[in-house]
Amino acid sequence: MESFGVYVFNDAVMQERLPKATYNQLRKTIDQGTSLDPQVAEVVASVMKDWAVEKGATHYTHWFQPMTGITAEKHDAFITPTGNGKAIMEFSWKELVKGEPDASSFPSGGIRSTFEARGYTAWDCTSPAFVKDGTLYIPTAFCSYTGEALDLKTPLLRSMEAISRQAVRILRLFGDTAAKAVRTTTGAEQEYFLVDKELFLKRMDLFYTGRTLFGAKPPKGQELDDHYFGALKKRVAEFMHDLDEELWKLGIPAKTKHNEVAPAQHELALIFDTSNIATDHNQLTMEIMRKVADRHGLVCLLHEKPFKGMNGSGKHNNWSLSANGRNLLEPGRTPGENAQFLIFLMAVVKAVDEYADLLRLSVASAGNDHRLGGYEAPPSILSVYLGDELTEIIEQIETGMVRDNGRQQMLDIGVLTLPVLPRDATDRNRTSPFAFTGNKFEFRMVGSSQSIAMPNFVLNTIVAEALSQIADRLEQASDFQAEVNAVVKEMIKQHKRVIFNGNNYSEEWVAEAERRGLPNFKTTVDVIPALLEEKNIRLFEKHHVLSETEVRSRYEIYLESYVKTVRIEALTMIEMVMKQILPAVMKHMKQVADTVASLTKAGADASAFKRDLDTVVGLSNSLRENTGRLSAEVEALDAEAGNGNSLNHARAYKDRILPLMEAVRADADRLEEIVDGSLWPFPTYGELLFRV
Ligand code: ADP
Ligand code: MG
Repeated sequence: MESFGVYVFNDAVMQERLPKATYNQLRKTIDQGTSLDPQVAEVVASVMKDWAVEKGATHYTHWFQPMTGITAEKHDAFITPTGNGKAIMEFSWKELVKGEPDASSFPSGGIRSTFEARGYTAWDCTSPAFVKDGTLYIPTAFCSYTGEALDLKTPLLRSMEAISRQAVRILRLFGDTAAKAVRTTTGAEQEYFLVDKELFLKRMDLFYTGRTLFGAKPPKGQELDDHYFGALKKRVAEFMHDLDEELWKLGIPAKTKHNEVAPAQHELALIFDTSNIATDHNQLTMEIMRKVADRHGLVCLLHEKPFKGMNGSGKHNNWSLSANGRNLLEPGRTPGENAQFLIFLMAVVKAVDEYADLLRLSVASAGNDHRLGGYEAPPSILSVYLGDELTEIIEQIETGMVRDNGRQQMLDIGVLTLPVLPRDATDRNRTSPFAFTGNKFEFRMVGSSQSIAMPNFVLNTIVAEALSQIADRLEQASDFQAEVNAVVKEMIKQHKRVIFNGNNYSEEWVAEAERRGLPNFKTTVDVIPALLEEKNIRLFEKHHVLSETEVRSRYEIYLESYVKTVRIEALTMIEMVMKQILPAVMKHMKQVADTVASLTKAGADASAFKRDLDTVVGLSNSLRENTGRLSAEVEALDAEAGNGNSLNHARAYKDRILPLMEAVRADADRLEEIVDGSLWPFPTYGELLFRV
C-alpha cells in the first residue's frame, strides 16, 4: 500500500505541500465549485510542477475526453530558455487552468468550422492530476471557441451540479438544513477479452475493427461453463497482477478480478468514487489494460462483441447518491429516513420510465448493437428490477394497505418501517438492465468499450428532473407528510409499468413490455432520433447540461460515428475476402480438383470428393457474388451520402450494408469448416479463444 497513489497529486499531497491558506481555498473550489483566485492557482501550479518533476515528469498535458470516446493529450515541456543558453522548468497558473488545443480534428457535429478551429481545455480540479510516463496529466474539460462542450466530461460535471441542486432541495425538505451538496457515485465493472498478440496481428478484422468479422464456431465454446470464476491461467494471472500494480500507483482502486463466462473473457471491478473520478479512472483503466497486455504478449479486446456466438463484454455501471458520505439509496432505520429513501428510489424509477429513450441512447453504439438483446445481455428494453421485498412494499403503498401481523392496516409512509432488505438481493436477477442492488442501482447495458460519462450524465440529468418535479410539489405542500404520501403513491401508479423482476432475456418479456407500452429501440439508429425530441432538448437545457446546439451537434456525431464504424467493417471484410479468403479457397479447390482428376484417371470412385468440390465451388461463387454486392453497395451509399440527411445515411448502412455483411460472413464461415486448415489464412476462433 506504500505505492498506492504515489503518482497522484491527491489530497494528502496537497495538504502536505500547499500552504494552509492555499490548500483551504483549493479545497473549497473542489468541494463547492467556487472559482479559484489566480494567485492561489499560481501557488498550486508551482507546487504541482515541483512534485511532478520529482516524480520524473518533464512535460505536462491537458488530458481531455473528446467525442471519440477515448482520451486525448498533447504534451508540452515545462522548459523555458533563460537566454544564456540554459533553461529552467516553469509552469504558470495559466498553463494549469487553460489550454488551447486545435479543435478542428475532433468530432464536433458541425459546431465549429475549421476557420475557427480553436478549442479550449479547462482544468477540472475535482479530479486529481497525476504523473504517467514522464508527463503531468491535468484532467480537463474541452470546449469550442464559442463555449460549447466538445467532450464527455463537461456535460458530466454539469449534470453532477444539476442533480446536486435538486437533491439538496429534497434533503432540506426532510430537515437536513445543512445539506450543501450531493454527489453521484459510480463503480464500474469492466469486462474484456485477452488474446495472444501474435494471433491478433494475423487477424485484419481484430486489428482494424476490434471484433472478428469472420470465424466458424469452434468445437468447444462456453457451453461447459468451465471458465466463469475458473482458476486463472499463469499468463493471465501475471497480466492481472501487473495491471493491479500499475492502477494502484495511479490511485485507481482496482478491487475484484475474475474469469468471465466466455473463454478468454475476464472482468475487473474498481471501488466506486464520485462519477467524475470514476469516469476518469475507467478511461485510464482501459488504456492501461491495453498497455500492460502488450507487455505480456497479449492484446486486450474491449469491443462489445469480439466473437460471434460467445458472450459479449459490457460494463456494469453501479450508481448511487451520496450526501456527506451518507448513501441516499440506503433504506433507513427510521420511518422518516424511509420516506426520504422512497422518494429517491421512486425518483429513479420515474426517471427511467420517462426517459428510457435517453438511457437507451446513452449506451447505443454499433458495437453494443451486437450485444444487447443477445442471450447473454439485457435486451434493448429498459426496465427496473426492485426485488420481491421492495416490490411488495411498493404494491402495498399503492393500495394504501399493509399487512401487519396478519391484519390489514392503513399504510402511512410517514410511519412506515421497512423490513431489512436482504443485501444478497443483488444476484437474484442478473438479467435486468437496471437493477436495484440493495443500496445502489446497477445499469448493465453499458458497452465495454464505451466511456461511462454519457450513461452517467444522462442518469444524473433525468433523476435531477424527477427530483425537481417532486421538490416543486413538496415545497408547496401545507401538510408535508400527506404530500409525501401522495407523491410516492402517484409515482408508483404512474411508473410501476417499468418495474419488472422476471427474466429479461425471455421472449415473453419482449411481448409483455410491448403490452405495457415500454419502448424497444432495437438498434442505435432506431434510438438516435429520440435525442432531438422536444422533451429531451428541453430537459438538457433546463438543467444546463447541454444546450440545444450541443444536443444537435451530438446527434450528428453519433450518426456519423455509426456510419464510419460500419463502413470500416464492410471495407475490412471485402479486403479479407479478396486478398485472403478467396485466394486460399482457390488453392483448396485446385487441390481437390486435382485429386478428383487423378483418382478418376486411376479408375477409382471420386464421387464423394467431386461433391465436396461442388459444395466449395458453390460457396465460393456465392461468397464472390455477395462480396461484389457489398462492395457496390458501399460505393452507392458513399455517392448518395443519405442525400445530405445523416439519419438516412445511417439507416441505409443499417438496412443495406449489415445484411450483406451477414451474407458474406455466412459463406466464409461455411468455407472455413470445409477448406484445408493449413491453407486457412488467419487464426481460427479455437486458437484465439484457447491459446492464451
Ligand atoms: P456485485 O458484485 O454484487 O455487483 P458489489 O457490492 O461487489 O456488487 O459492487 C459492485 C460495484 O458496485 C463495485 O464497483 C462497487 O464499488 C460498486 N458500488 C458499491 N457501492 C456503491 C455506491 N454506493 N455507489 C456506486 N457504486 C457502488
Ligand atoms: Mg455487478
